[in-house]
Order: sequence, then C-alpha cells, then structure tokens
Amino acid sequence: MVRAEQVHKSFGSLEVLKGIDLEVRTGEVCCLLGPSGSGKSTFLRCINHLEKINAGRIWVDGDLIGYRERGGKLHELREKEVAAQRRSIGMVFQRFNLFPHMTALENVIEAPVRVRGEKKAAARERAAALLDRVGLGDKLGTYPGQLSGGQQQRVAIARALAMQPKLMLFDEPTSALDPELVGEVLDVMKDLARDGMTMIVVTHEIGFAREVGDSLIFMDGGVVVESGAPREVIANPRHDRTKAFLAKVL
Ligand code: ATP
Ligand code: MG
Repeated sequence: MVRAEQVHKSFGSLEVLKGIDLEVRTGEVCCLLGPSGSGKSTFLRCINHLEKINAGRIWVDGDLIGYRERGGKLHELREKEVAAQRRSIGMVFQRFNLFPHMTALENVIEAPVRVRGEKKAAARERAAALLDRVGLGDKLGTYPGQLSGGQQQRVAIARALAMQPKLMLFDEPTSALDPELVGEVLDVMKDLARDGMTMIVVTHEIGFAREVGDSLIFMDGGVVVESGAPREVIANPRHDRTKAFLAKVL
C-alpha cells in the first residue's frame, strides 16, 4: 500500500531525510519511532506531499505521489492532481486542528460536503455513524471548546475517516493529551487497525507499537537505524541509538 524508496528531503542546507526506505502492506500498522528532530513528521508530510521531496519516490496504493513518470522522467503533478491524491490519505496531528466554530458533526461533514460534494443529509448520517464509532455518539452538537482533548482527537480521527482514506497517517496523536486521556484515543486507533486500516503512526507509545504494530521503524538523524517486528526491536534493539532511545521512553 505504501512504498518509499530512498526519500531525501532538505530544508536549505539542512538534510533532514537521508534516504528513507519503507514498505507497508495493506492493512498493516507501521509505527515510526525516533528522537526529536529525527525527521519523523517531515517524512509523514512527504507521504501526502505536504513537503516536496528532493529525491526518491513514494507510492501510495500504486500511485506515485506528487509526480508522473514519463519516459524515465518525473513530471510534477498539478495542484488539483496532488489534492486528489491527498484526499485518499487521512492525517491526524498532535494538535487536533478542529474548526472551533463548528460542532463535532459539522467538523466531520465539512470536507465530504465541500470537497467531495456529498449531499448534506447523507454526509450527516455517515458523520453521525463515524462519531458513534469513536465513542462520541452523544456529542454531535458539541463544540470543540466543550470537549476534552481526548474527545477532540477522536473527532479529528472521525473527520479524517469521513473522506474514506486508504491510508491513515498519525503524527504523535496522543502526545498533547493528559495521560488519563491517552487510552481512549489509542483504543480508537486499535479498533481502526483491527478493522484493517493501513496506518503509519509516529508515536512514543511503546505499548501500542508492541500490541498493534506489524512493523516498527526506528529513525535517527534522517536515516532508518533499524526496523523489524515491534516485539523483536523493543525486546532486542541491536543499535546503541535504539537502545538509548527505548531506555528513555520505556
Ligand atoms: P519531533 O519528535 O520533535 O516531532 P521529528 O522527528 O518529527 O521531531 P521533524 O519535525 O521532521 O522531526 O524535523 C526534522 C528536522 O527538520 C528538524 O531539525 C527541524 O527543525 C527541521 N525542519 C522541519 N520542518 C522544517 C521547515 N519547514 N523548514 C526548516 N526546517 C525544518
Ligand atoms: Mg514530529
């Protein structure tokens, strides 16, 4: 479902990604770990072309992201084509980024109605079902300001799901939450994984990675230091940098 080959990304003279390879099969959960500044968020943003890569290739569900290949040459896609690719990729950030002046339900129906031209009534029905699925069936008319951080993050997940993505990207979805609210968000993510959603999750939640992850990638300094089955990597990290990182977060 996702394949990255030798992805390079620099900001000016700062090389942030130095040749990242990754493969995630349909229905798998890949957990991305690494110290601050190692390039995790940048890599996620490259996957949906919020950042333009300097070299390498990324495919999502067979589509080359951001480019079309013709005669061995890459041609940039038009903004409209990029937007179409992006629509099939849901993204959830550390900060919930909900529209504060819209209710939970309005937040969830916004993109399907505005971007996909869905009929409001149908969008509402689907949004209500999605909010119910994330445990917020009784909060449809509530504004973000009246919701806890964990509830807001669950609305954000429902909002991403409303676009019926093939792939979900999560960038530290629980790290802005009070500890007692982390579990409810992880539970929703576990549920999604169980339902077969393909996910790439940047997280420091080692328990989640061990329990839900099909693969774990440890990044540092813009390279993949080691990767493998989460249980293996967590129990037997081979590299000193992985050991040092796990010792801090465990
Ligand atoms: P964290 O765990 O703190 O979220 P991260 O692994 O997600 O870290 P990134 O946010 O990808 O790291 O940042 C990697 C490096 O790229 C950092 O040195 C950061 O300062 C730099 N960087 C990220 N975005 C930009 C940008 N738009 N312009 C310039 N430098 C950037
Ligand atoms: Mg980050």
